[in-house]
Amino acid sequence: MEGALTARDRVGIQDFVLLDTHTSETAFLGNLKKRFSEDLIYTYIGTLLVSVNPYKELDIYSKKQMDIYMGVNFFELPPHIYALADNAYHTMMTEANNHFILISGESGAGKTEASKKILQYYAVSCPSTTLLDSVRDRMLVSNPVLEAFGNAKTLKNDNSSRFGKYMDIQFDIQGDAVGGHILSYLLEKSRVVHQNHGERNFHIFYQLVEGGEEDLLHQLGLESNCQHYSYLVQDECANVTSINDKNDWKTVRNALSVIDFDESDIQHLFGIIASVLHLGNVQFEADSKGYATLNKNTELRWVSTLLGINVQLLQEGLTYRKIEAKTDEVLSPFTVDHAIYARNALAKAIYGRTFTWLVNKINDSMENKEPSRKTVIGLLDIYGFEVFYVNSFEQFCINYCNEKLQQLFIQLTLKSEQEEYEAEGIGWEPVQFFNNKIICDLVEEKHRGIISVLDEECLRPGEATDFTFLEKLEEKMGSHPHFITHKLSDKKTRKTLDRGNFRLLHYAGEVTYGVVGFIDKNNDMLYRNIKDVMRQSKNAIVRECFASTESDSRRRPETVASQFKSSLLGLTDILMSKEPWYVRCLKSNESKQPGRFDDVLVRHQVKYLGLMEHLRVRRAGFAYRRRYELFLQRYKPLCPATWPHWRGVAAEGVEVLVQHLGYLPDEYKMGRTKIFIRHPRTLFATEDAFEVC
Ligand code: ADP
Ligand code: MG
Repeated sequence: MEGALTARDRVGIQDFVLLDTHTSETAFLGNLKKRFSEDLIYTYIGTLLVSVNPYKELDIYSKKQMDIYMGVNFFELPPHIYALADNAYHTMMTEANNHFILISGESGAGKTEASKKILQYYAVSCPSTTLLDSVRDRMLVSNPVLEAFGNAKTLKNDNSSRFGKYMDIQFDIQGDAVGGHILSYLLEKSRVVHQNHGERNFHIFYQLVEGGEEDLLHQLGLESNCQHYSYLVQDECANVTSINDKNDWKTVRNALSVIDFDESDIQHLFGIIASVLHLGNVQFEADSKGYATLNKNTELRWVSTLLGINVQLLQEGLTYRKIEAKTDEVLSPFTVDHAIYARNALAKAIYGRTFTWLVNKINDSMENKEPSRKTVIGLLDIYGFEVFYVNSFEQFCINYCNEKLQQLFIQLTLKSEQEEYEAEGIGWEPVQFFNNKIICDLVEEKHRGIISVLDEECLRPGEATDFTFLEKLEEKMGSHPHFITHKLSDKKTRKTLDRGNFRLLHYAGEVTYGVVGFIDKNNDMLYRNIKDVMRQSKNAIVRECFASTESDSRRRPETVASQFKSSLLGLTDILMSKEPWYVRCLKSNESKQPGRFDDVLVRHQVKYLGLMEHLRVRRAGFAYRRRYELFLQRYKPLCPATWPHWRGVAAEGVEVLVQHLGYLPDEYKMGRTKIFIRHPRTLFATEDAFEVC
C-alpha cells in the first residue's frame, strides 16, 4: 500500500547500535521519540537499556510477559526490563559469578519503578519451592515498607526515594532466589522537621494519621487529622491526588506482619512515629531571663509515655545542656531557638536511627542461613540528580553520589573498554568523552576537596559559621573550573550569585547551593544528655537505636559528609567486584504528564548521561569478549578439530573453531589474550548451536 509505514518506520529501531549510518544526537532522539509515541519505552544500546518514563500504566508487566521473556535470547524480543533481568540472571548462572544492575537517571525518571520490576521478575519467575516462597514474599513486601519510611513527595516526584538502596538478591546453585540483603545510604533526615514548599514529610506519617485504626490512634494520642501536626503542615500539601495514604497504610501494615514484626515491635515502631509528631508540637516560651520553658506539656507527656522515658529528664534534655566542668557537671539553659534546635535534632535522630533499625530488621527476615554457595545480582536504586530552586546540604550529597556513579559508569564502560582494546592490540580509534573525575575530586579529595573544607570548619565550634565555610571555599576553590562563587561569578558566567551561595558545574548541569545549614547538618549533633535519656527508654527499638557505644566514646564522631563519602567508596568496591548491567532512565517531561516527550529535556539527559559516547564505543567496538581458554573450553564440542582436545595454543584453537563456525572476518577480532565478538547475535548463534549439540 502506497505511503504505508513499514514496521521499522513506525516503531523505530530497537537497538541504537543498529541505527544505520547516523550516530547523530538528532537521529538518536528521533528514534527515542518515535518509539515513545508508540508506548515503546525501552530501547537498547547493545546490552544497556534506555527507559523513558511514560507516566502511565502500560500493559507490559504481566506474568504472561514475564514468561515470554524467560530464557529467551536478548535480541529476539522487543527490548524490555525483563530481558535485561533475564540476561543478567542467565549469565550469572552460566558463569557462576556475581552481577549488579545499576539503575540511574535524575529524580523522577523511573529508577525505583525499574528496580521493583526487576525484583518482581526474579521473585515471580525464578524456579520455586514452597520453602522459599516466604523469602520471596519478604523481599517483595520489604519495598512498600521501606518506601513508606524512606520516600516522600518532592517537587520532582510524588514518590521520591530519600535514601539510597543497594539490594543483593542471592541465588543458590539451582538458580532459586533464596535470600536478600539491603544496604541503605544516607536518609534525608532533615525532611522530618522541615519540608520545602510543595513537598511532604515521609509517607508513613500521613499513612498512620490518615489510615490508622481508631484504637491505635487513641493509644498513640493522635488525632486523625494531618493539619494538627506542625511537622506535617509546613506546606499545605498533605493530600496529593496520586497518593492514597489510607490504602498504603493497609499495605504497609500487612507487609509488617509478613516480615516477622510481632505486636510489640509494631507497637514500639508506631509509638516512635507518633512521638515524633508529638515532639513537633512541643512549643517553648521564654522566661524572664530569655531561657526556654515549657508551659503546656501535654505533648511532652505523650512523648514520654510512648518512648517510656521520664518526663522530667526529657524536659531537662530539651531545655538544658550538660557541660562538663573540671570536677562536676553544670546545666546550661537553652534559649527558645536553641531548644527548638535540640527538639528537632532529637526528632531527626529518633527517626533516622529507627530507619536503620528497620533496614536491619528486614535484612534479618530475608537472610538465608544456608552455608551453600550463592551468587548474587545486586540492584542499585539511589536518589537521582536533583536541582531545586533552593539546594542545600542534602542536594550536595545526592548530587555528589550521582557524580560517583557516573564516574563508575565511565570507568567501567568508556574508559576500561577503550583501554582494553589498546592493551589487547585491537586497532581502535579512541572516542572522546567528558570525564567527570575532576568534579568528584573537587568534592572529595583529601585535604583539598569541599568535604574536607567543610569538616575543618566543623572542627571549630563557636568560631566557624556557614559563611566562614563559604569564605574558605572561595579561597581554596575559587579558581576551579567547576566551582563558582558569588565573588567570581561575573567572570565565569553572566549570571550573578547571591551572597551565601556557591555553584557547582556538575556533569548533569549547574546547581546553586545555599550554604546556610551546611555546618549543622554535617555535624548532626545531638547533646550527650539527651542521648543518655534515650538510652533509658522502655521502648525496645529506641533503646536499641541509642545503645551503641558511640555515646560512650569521647572521640568526635565522623561528620555526615565524611561518613557518606566512605560509604560511597565501600559501594564502589562492592560494585567493582561484580559484572555490570545498566538501565539508564530518562524523564520524558517535567510535569509528570502521560505521553509528553519534551525534546529539550530528553536531549539534555541523553547528553549528560554520555549515551552518545557509549553508543559510539559500542558501535565501533565489540559486544563480547572471552579469554581464549574459556571460549575454547565451552565451545570446543562444536568442531571436530577441537573436540575432545585441542593440543596447541588456545588462540589458534579458537581461530580454527570460529572458522569452522563460519564467523565472517568483520564479526570478530583476535586480541592478545581474548577473542572479541562484534555483535551479540554471533555469540547467541554459537550458544544455540552449543545447546543443540
Ligand atoms: P525515580 O526513582 O527515578 O525518582 P520513580 O521510579 O519513583 O522515579 O518514578 C516516578 C513516577 O513515574 C512513578 O511514581 C510512576 O508514576 C512513573 N513511572 C516510572 N516508571 C514507570 C513505568 N515504567 N511505567 C509507568 N509509570 C512509571
Ligand atoms: Mg526513586
